[in-house]
Amino acid sequence: MRTPLSSPVSDNSPVRDDNATTDGNSTGPHAPDVTDLGNDVFQIDTRMAGYPGITAGYLIRGSRPCLVETGTAPSAPVVRDALRTLGVGPADLASVVVTHIHLDHAGGAGDIAAMYPAAEIVVHNRGARHLADPSRLMASAKMVYGDALDRLFGTLAPVPADRIRALDDVGAVDLGGGRSLASYYSPGHAKHHVGLLDSLSGDLYVGDAAGVYIPDTGDLRPATPPPDFDLSVAVSSVRLFASLEPSRLLFSHYGPATDVAAILERSVEELHVWVAATEGARAAGLDLDHAVAMVREQTRWRYASLADGAPPEVAEKFERISGAASNVGGIWHWLEKADADSGR
Ligand SMILES: [Zn+2]
Repeated sequence: MRTPLSSPVSDNSPVRDDNATTDGNSTGPHAPDVTDLGNDVFQIDTRMAGYPGITAGYLIRGSRPCLVETGTAPSAPVVRDALRTLGVGPADLASVVVTHIHLDHAGGAGDIAAMYPAAEIVVHNRGARHLADPSRLMASAKMVYGDALDRLFGTLAPVPADRIRALDDVGAVDLGGGRSLASYYSPGHAKHHVGLLDSLSGDLYVGDAAGVYIPDTGDLRPATPPPDFDLSVAVSSVRLFASLEPSRLLFSHYGPATDVAAILERSVEELHVWVAATEGARAAGLDLDHAVAMVREQTRWRYASLADGAPPEVAEKFERISGAASNVGGIWHWLEKADADSGR
């Protein structure tokens, strides 16, 4: 996700964080929100910027406990509290895997590495150096988010290089007891993205490569941010996921979905729809801002979350994690690059 997020209340409000963390959750602002998904898999709400229900991490419990996605740096204490309630202490966590290095997925990597000194931090080799030295990643995020960066994502602390294990295009993470996660390189959303298939459960951790899923409505929307988005590459990654025949998809935004084949088919369709709409806006001579507005309106009917009368907080989830500005901006950037490459 790369789009500036709307604030839940005014940035000047002294009660901002209380509002953000209590909204929609009856268990109180600081109680861990953990959901047992079966097969020793637990979903953890990592509460990016205090928002409930938009960023998920997962613990796979066993003799070698593994965390998938850290959430942001300010999420690290939230994750630690969740792991504690699941019986995983500071010396217990064996591995941490991030599907890619965007800050809503990996921003807590340095903090989590410090909290769990025995854990190996696993990432695709194209992301590894940015976890060891986040300065360039943070500088480019600062350009995108400006003053909102700190509130939304905090600061990714460096991960000691000797704690990082870089994955090639296929790889494996040992979960203990003969169970493992197989990793599959899946670029398109980001060039450092992997999907992870659980050998025991058949769960596939899809990161953002299959888009953003809204469990409240079953909506699926693509996640096509700049600067890496590429249509054919993204479609190939979704096709790769389908070929793995997973039993369930675990979205980082947000949660499990079992209608696997239909959702992955929809994911490909969504990519084509958004690319076609953005191409149409460019062909009509619109600038980017007007293109965003047009594509937002043209695609709106596809999503129950955006229907008249739908709860506004559900619609807001889309804008927070796969905003139209981010999606159209990523497609636009890719189209411009393609034009430049072809000399048009
Ligand atoms: Zn994301």
